Parts: sequence; structure tokens; C-alpha cells
Amino acid sequence: MARLVIVSNRVAVPEEGGKAVAAGGLAVAVKEAFSSYEGLWFGWSGTVTENPTEEPTLIDRGRVQYAVVDLSPQDHKEYYAGFANRALWPIMHYRLGLGAFSRSDYSGYSRVNRTFARALAKLVEPDDIIWVHDYHLLPLASELRGLGLANPIGYFHHIPWPAADVFNSLPASGDLLRAIADYDLIGLQTDPDVQNLSRNLIDTMRAIPLGGGSLMVDGRRTRIRSFPIGIDVEGFKEAAEKAGSNKVVRETIAGLRTRKLLIGVDRLDYSKGVPERMEAVSSFFASNPDQRGNVTYIQITPKSRSEVPEYEQLAREVNETVGEINGSLGDPAWTPIQYVTKAYPRPVLAGLYRAARVGLVTPMRDGMNLVAKEYIVAQSAEDPGVLVLSKFAGAARQLPEALLVNPYDRFEVAEAIRTALYMSRGERLERWKPMAERMTREDVDWWARNFLTELEHFRTVEREPPTAAQAAE
Ligand code: UDP
Repeated sequence: MARLVIVSNRVAVPEEGGKAVAAGGLAVAVKEAFSSYEGLWFGWSGTVTENPTEEPTLIDRGRVQYAVVDLSPQDHKEYYAGFANRALWPIMHYRLGLGAFSRSDYSGYSRVNRTFARALAKLVEPDDIIWVHDYHLLPLASELRGLGLANPIGYFHHIPWPAADVFNSLPASGDLLRAIADYDLIGLQTDPDVQNLSRNLIDTMRAIPLGGGSLMVDGRRTRIRSFPIGIDVEGFKEAAEKAGSNKVVRETIAGLRTRKLLIGVDRLDYSKGVPERMEAVSSFFASNPDQRGNVTYIQITPKSRSEVPEYEQLAREVNETVGEINGSLGDPAWTPIQYVTKAYPRPVLAGLYRAARVGLVTPMRDGMNLVAKEYIVAQSAEDPGVLVLSKFAGAARQLPEALLVNPYDRFEVAEAIRTALYMSRGERLERWKPMAERMTREDVDWWARNFLTELEHFRTVEREPPTAAQAAE
């Protein structure tokens, strides 16, 4: 059996006996990728320690071996909290004003990528294919090539790829564009992301288009294509159907009495538009006073990246917004916004999505947004709810029957909430059905298979040099 090597910033090592750790979107995707391969998953252990060794810790769990390395406090500060999360993340999400570039962070980012490459190179066999995930590891292929590895190496970018002028405002952008071309295959979430990166490589790096998404950059051939990530539809549907027996779900539904439920589920991140959404809900109640007391909005927002100052600031802003809205609109018998910062397991979320008449997914910018897909899949086929979805989420391209909104326009979002609440069952079904079918067809298995099938090509034909005609062109 061919071996697959997956590399990502964090690795979710299952407990002994096969019990999975709480699975994030990436862990579900990686599990799917390993379903037809044996192999290795390499990355950071999640531990920060003084003087970590370069040798990875190896953990065997059946067909998949896990290789994890620790980070030093300086690595964590510069590579992870600094360059990845304070420079790349905001820039990739079009938030130029929030980007904080520092030379020492960038040097830490480059150093950790080099260290990862050295540790990984010792574990890679000549027949392996390598699949690298996400923006923490943009230069990894370039480092691996520098160590002489000729294996097919693919990269999947889970977040948006911005327009050239936005990306190029990052001081290290030239280095990163050069480095990314060392991947054989680059997967992005949507076609506009593909156009943004391709255009930038052509204009900035003088890349030559070879047709079919392939580009020649500095004498190397790379292919850029969109592979929208999907979810585990069967697993999620089953969880939603069984969720009625879950205590949290049961008690939440009972607490609603006859009220209709609006739900939002997002990590606490400025890209998700949580305070903006709360303002939109407030506008909805302001212009629909008859709905006060009849609708409850539950917002589940687990904290993330608290070590980054912008996230701390956001946490305060959300708390203040909730307080103001509940204080001015609520009464002793009704709290308009129920805001929780605890993380819930997916089976609980599945039940809450199903109970919600409206799913509010209004990020200011998002690579894909799995919550939007989960909301659709969790609905009852007899009486589905309505998805209000930001047109700036990658998911909007596969979910055009949702009520698509501009999250910067609180009145438009408020109007969509009203439309959703009053929508007839006939229209709800008409909108939901094609989305549910598309989600089932384009699930996580479809995504992983498509990417890996394409990456496999690079073992043979795709790696041949371009023909004379292509090179001349
Ligand atoms: N999620 C979860 N528990 C929570 C909140 C979120 O398991 O309390 C999951 C959610 O079901 C989804 C993922 O976290 O699968 C979030 O993915 P998404 O693409 O929406 O956003 P990201 O956080 O990756 O930017």
C-alpha cells in the first residue's frame, strides 16, 4: 500500500485503543485522507517546552504513525502566535489594518519550517506522497526540496487567498510566493482564491501559464486548483437525528418554549463577524418589535488564540455588545442573546442546529466555513430551517440557495433574519433540498479523494518537464 505523509501545524493523536481526540475540521479531513493509505502524520505536539529536541516523538496507532515535535517558547511566540496568527491570518482574511509584521516573527516562522523539514526528511521514504496543510507551513516544500526530496508534495490552504495587492502588502510576500511554487499541487478552497494566487504568481513572479491550472515558476511546474473542503455528512446527519436524547439539547429546546431559535457557532475570531452579527440581530428587534420575546438567539463562541492581543480585545468587544443589547432589549422573562464561550462537542451542535429555525453564518471573510455546511446537513427533511450566509464565506459558492448577505450591512442581515423567520415551509424545502444534495455529493471523502488522486499524478506524467512548445509559449 502506498504511503501518505500528512503535515500540519497541530497533530491530533488518538488515544490508545483508537479513541479519537475531540476532532476539529482538520482532524476529520486527515482521517478521511488516511482511509485509503497507511502513513504518517507529522506536526507540532501542542507542547511548548524549553530546549525541545529536533527528534520527533513517534507514536504508533495501527496503520497511521504519528510524529510530533515540541516548540520552544520563542518558536511558539514567533512562528505561531506571531507570524502565522498576527501577520498571515489577518492578511489572508483581508484585514490589512490588523496585520502586525515583525522581522523576528518572520525569522522564527522560517526557522520552524526549516526545523520541521529536517525532522520530517528523515522519516520520508522515496515512494511517499506528502500532503501539507495550511498557512503555518507555506515554505515547507521549499525547505524539503532544499534537502533533496523529490517526492510529490501537495499543499492545501484552508483559509482565503487574497487579491495580489492585499497579499503583497506583507513584507515577506515575495519569499512566500517563491516558496509556494515548490509544491507540485496547490489546493485552494474556491475559484476566486485560485485566480488571486495564479494572477499574483504571473504578475509578480513572471510565472508562465501552461494551461489546466499549471504554471511554470522559476523553471518549476506547479498546479493550482480549487478543492472545496466538505464535511462528514453521514456522521453529522446521524448525530443530528440522535441528538434529541442529549441533555443539553433537550434542556435548551425545553427552555425555548414556543420561541423560535436563531443560532450562531463560531470560534472567537474577528473574521467571523460575531459583534457585527449581534448588531444585526439588535437591528432586527428594533425594526420588528412584535418579535421581541418570540425569538432567542444563541451564540456559541469558544475562545481561541487568547495569546494574540487582537483576540483579547475582541473578547471584550463581544462581551460589551451582548451586555448592551440584552440590557436595552431584554426583560426579566426574556434574554435576546444567550452567549456562551464554552466549546460543545459536535453531536450537541448537531442537535442545536436542527432545533434552530435560522442558522446565522455571517463571517466578514472565511476560507470555507464548515458550520454553514453542518447546519444544512443537520436539518430535518420535513421541516428544514433557513441558512443566512455571508457572501464572503467560501461555502457560499456551494450554497447559493441560502439567503446570501453582505455581513458589513447590518440592515441587510436584519432583513434576511426577518425573511427567514417568515419563510413558508414550501420555500424552505425548495431552498434546502439542492443544498443538502450538494453537501452529500461533495463531502469530505470527495474532497480528499479528489486532491489525492491529483497529487498521485505527480509521481509520473505531471513531473515531466514542459514540452518545447509549452516552454516557448
Ligand atoms: N465546533 C465545535 N464546537 C464548538 C464550536 C465549533 O466542534 O463549540 C466545530 C464546528 O462544528 C466546525 C468547526 O468547529 O466543525 C469550525 O469550523 P469552521 O470552518 O466553521 O471555522 P474555523 O474555526 O475552522 O475557522
